[in-house]
Amino acid sequence: MIIAPKIRGFICTTAHPVGCAKHVAQQIAVVKKGGPSANGPKKVLVIGSSTGYGLSSRIAAAFGSGAATIGVFFERPGEADRTATAGWYNTAAFETEAKAAGLYARSFNGDAYSDAIKAEVIAAIKADLGQVDCVIYSLASPRRTHPTTGEVFKSVLKPVGNSFTNKSLNTGTGAVIEVSIDPVQGDDIAQTVAVMGGEDWEMWIDALQSAGVLAEGVTTLAYSYIGPEVTWPIYKNGTIGLAKEDLERVQKVLDEKLAPLKGKAWVSVNKALVTQASSAIPVVPLYISLLYKVMKAEGTHEDTIEQMDRLFRERLCNGNPQPDEAGRIRVDDWEMKPAVQELVGKRWAEVTTENFPELGDFEGYQSSFLRLFGFGLEGVDYSAEADPDVKIPSIG
Ligand code: NAD
Repeated sequence: MIIAPKIRGFICTTAHPVGCAKHVAQQIAVVKKGGPSANGPKKVLVIGSSTGYGLSSRIAAAFGSGAATIGVFFERPGEADRTATAGWYNTAAFETEAKAAGLYARSFNGDAYSDAIKAEVIAAIKADLGQVDCVIYSLASPRRTHPTTGEVFKSVLKPVGNSFTNKSLNTGTGAVIEVSIDPVQGDDIAQTVAVMGGEDWEMWIDALQSAGVLAEGVTTLAYSYIGPEVTWPIYKNGTIGLAKEDLERVQKVLDEKLAPLKGKAWVSVNKALVTQASSAIPVVPLYISLLYKVMKAEGTHEDTIEQMDRLFRERLCNGNPQPDEAGRIRVDDWEMKPAVQELVGKRWAEVTTENFPELGDFEGYQSSFLRLFGFGLEGVDYSAEADPDVKIPSIG
């Protein structure tokens, strides 16, 4: 079939297999350019490995330090007349490239919050790798079914206390609009913490540790975001920020649990970037558009792959993680540089629909968004027939 983007609000309901493969190949090329990373992890489990930061983590580990990788994700396969989700195509391409490079890669498509997937992954580690030396936790999900109670939790993106009104971007038209978001109600906070907080990260590490599949000196990482004050009511001080605080609580718990293995848990605070998860957050796409413009002009713009490559090479593998006062790794350091934030803040105050093309990088936002789904990649013939039914080698 001929595959074109079909955008519905903040998601694209189609994905291009050849474009996604190209996107993965480009990410691999970024990592290879940095050369091999001798001290990097060798056996890595990535939970949430098919898109965004998790996919880039998997690529950085595999092609940076030659790691064997197991990936877990929740994606839809393609059919004869319907495309798969982008993460499915990304994983198919990743596995093909990994195998061509002689690297072990195995993937599991299912609910990472369930006990069943945890058991399957543990069995695979035992059978194929013995143990893992790094566990990346990079899930972003709107809901979670609790594995013991069966309760379904739904995460919301809401401010706490007062309603929040600020500028936002209509990502379809480029109009700068005003949004008002009502504050939390009922158990919104508890629901969001149950989905995006640290309980499931701890459940994974508990299950892996009690099965004896964590190697001595194991590292585990989960990802967070802080950002500038203009986004705090909806992010850092909102429901999602409280869930991230819970991740930090669990990081400390895991440090204690992993002490007998001389292991370490980290929260890494990453840069704001266009991903499927971040495009759903109000206000953030406008901030990202202004940020991209400033960081591109400064020559410091990074995408998820540059972020994860830097995280692995310069923080995790060289014994110099440079934690902040709260013990977090900060690869959002370039985003948060005072000069960058000052300029973004100034433009935030000034931006309107009329001057947005000048002040913001709307083109960059839109092209990054489309690339997530395999569209707009150079060298891909989008007018050619493409088979949507692509197999992931380890899944079939
Ligand atoms: P993403 O949407 O690109 O990736 C989410 C991943 O989770 C995918 O692999 C998806 O398949 C998987 N997933 C979702 N539900 C699942 C389930 N039930 N079972 C198994 N897999 C499931 O998101 P992202 O932006 O890369 O986010 C990853 C992490 O990085 C999140 O913790 C997010 O808060 C954090 N982060 C994101 C940004 C940003 O700007 N995008 C910045 C800093 C931190």
